[in-house]
Amino acid sequence: MSLDLPSYIAGEAVHSSDKLDVFYPWNNTLTGTVSNITPEQLDQAIDAALRGQHTPLSRYERHTILRKAANLLAEHREELAQLICRETGLCIRESMYETGRSSEVLEFAAIEALKDDGEVFSCDISPQGKNRKIITFKQPLQLICAITPFNHPLNQVVHKVAPAIAAGAPMILKPSDKSPLTAIRFAELLYEAGLPGWMLSVVSGDIDTIVTPMITDDRVEMISFTGSVKVGKHIAKIAGYKKTCLELGGNSPLIILEDADIDLAVKLAAEGCFRNSGQRCTAVKRLLVQESILETFTSRFVEQAKEYIAGDPEHPETRVGTVIDEPAAIYLEQVLRRAETDGARVLLGGNRNGALMEPTVISHVPRDTPMVAEESFGPLAPIIAIIDLDDAIQYYNSGNFGLSSGIVTNNMTEALKAAKHLRTGTTNINEIPGFRIESSPFGGIKDSGLGIKEGVTEAVKFMQNTKTFSIPWE
Ligand code: NAD
Repeated sequence: MSLDLPSYIAGEAVHSSDKLDVFYPWNNTLTGTVSNITPEQLDQAIDAALRGQHTPLSRYERHTILRKAANLLAEHREELAQLICRETGLCIRESMYETGRSSEVLEFAAIEALKDDGEVFSCDISPQGKNRKIITFKQPLQLICAITPFNHPLNQVVHKVAPAIAAGAPMILKPSDKSPLTAIRFAELLYEAGLPGWMLSVVSGDIDTIVTPMITDDRVEMISFTGSVKVGKHIAKIAGYKKTCLELGGNSPLIILEDADIDLAVKLAAEGCFRNSGQRCTAVKRLLVQESILETFTSRFVEQAKEYIAGDPEHPETRVGTVIDEPAAIYLEQVLRRAETDGARVLLGGNRNGALMEPTVISHVPRDTPMVAEESFGPLAPIIAIIDLDDAIQYYNSGNFGLSSGIVTNNMTEALKAAKHLRTGTTNINEIPGFRIESSPFGGIKDSGLGIKEGVTEAVKFMQNTKTFSIPWE
């Protein structure tokens, strides 16, 4: 049976005959529908958010709501994991993992809500000074709009909504049109946890009549967007005079040097390439392996990759479910065939069935074939030979992306060189590029973002303004 979910305008469910359909990529059955909103309802959401600010929530209230939401999420963990699976085709192992991460985001945000990072500046510290003190405090932005991608349909949403609650800033959320159902169920849990309606609206609607007007509305002070480079750059153009947090695509490498622990390298390579069906912005999109260990690494990696069973997303043994839809899988198949034409060799996998793309290991991949020159969002593991670390750094830095990276080596000098010289948001040593905790700063540079970080702590800061006032201090 499919779900029929409303949009929410300031906590009120709104139903409509104009609906968005959401399908299960595994078998194309209807998972659910969401009611689209009208431009008038968007206006109501904006008005309610602005009015609500006259009765702001205390830090304790924000903390309590976030804690309750974390508990409710834990109670509903299986239901939400099932829904993620049914709207994205991600396997149940991954969607259970995602719900766990999302609870942590809520817990960290609850802690953040209690922190006051106000500062005091004595003003009698220079010849031009005075006997005064300057004190800072934080004020929430009056309205934030968030737009989220299909991958991690819960965690991406929680990473925007939870910091906004901690900051005390109202938000209108437009989740991905491919995976909006989990976002709406999550909003219902937040209302149940006591979140006042004006603090959150969750809307579905047409790009031209709802989303673009939301982005360009002068009353909106910030756009928080996670998604593709193409849409992110378009938003940067139309948003105008607003704060923007743009978390865009990635093309992350895992660099494997000749002194690496090969057991660790093959394990990290497989986790990095295949988890979440390869659909993580920080997924390993290129394995850059030093020539001297290329053969050993490749044969060991193919064996490791065989453990990633692809198939029915709901089966507990499945480790790789579908990608988001059949066109996405067809794109992967096309870049794979093109890479073969360009000289690459498929060592494992390579087949597609509907939206299911097999975990695929590819060797002899030319550096400029579209599969690796652009972001390929799926379970492809292209291996590229590198001469040494300098070669890997030069190759990575010559590309457009700058989100994350990983290096496997026991040579600390080389590891630190990678950390210093890779032009990217993160470098993880002996870890996958995707490693983070939910509160640490996260985000990219170059085409991957403007250097403004998410992660609960940084996100909360960006969602507030710093106000100063000064007082006499005779
Ligand atoms: P997408 O850009 O196609 O869509 C993202 C969101 O933008 C969706 O909600 C979509 O409905 C909306 N959208 C589409 N066209 C729009 C327009 N013209 N104006 C305003 N909004 C519009 O991205 P996707 O395919 O859902 O997600 C995959 C991409 O997201 C990948 O490139 C991935 O790397 C990236 N991503 C980045 C991060 C990060 O933190 N850097 C995290 C996850 C995903």
